[in-house]
Amino acid sequence: MGTRMSEDGRPLPVPNPTTAPFFDAAREGRLRLQRCPRDGLFFYPRSRCPGCLGDDWSWEDVSGRGSLHAFTVDRVGHDPALTRDVPFAIAVVELEEGPRMTARMVDCGLDDLRVGMPVEATFETLEDVPLVRFRPRQVERLPIGGA
Ligand SMILES: [Zn+2]
Repeated sequence: MGTRMSEDGRPLPVPNPTTAPFFDAAREGRLRLQRCPRDGLFFYPRSRCPGCLGDDWSWEDVSGRGSLHAFTVDRVGHDPALTRDVPFAIAVVELEEGPRMTARMVDCGLDDLRVGMPVEATFETLEDVPLVRFRPRQVERLPIGGA
């Protein structure tokens, strides 16, 4: 995927014909991934299925739900363009549909991050480019005592 610089110097992804449907969905607040018709694998962003190398995948909306697989906190600004944003957390999220996505965590204190915590996708728009973020997700609990 290509990138360009925002007006304030931050790297932004540039959609190409392969990734345009992903960004179109993201603009509407939906997470959409590629899916292979033979083995059902979800993946992104690739030109071929990682399972069978088929190239006849299609796009499918997914839940956006997952769990925090791993994370790291950047407190010093390893990318000079992002120094103004530190400290921030970069997460590897395992989606319910299987694939892992790397994105920034938002709406969460850095000391509250826990591996395995439930998260959900959210979107932040920078210069008309929708960027995937993940935030903590409330897990519905059954009422105690029930009906
Ligand atoms: Zn496949």
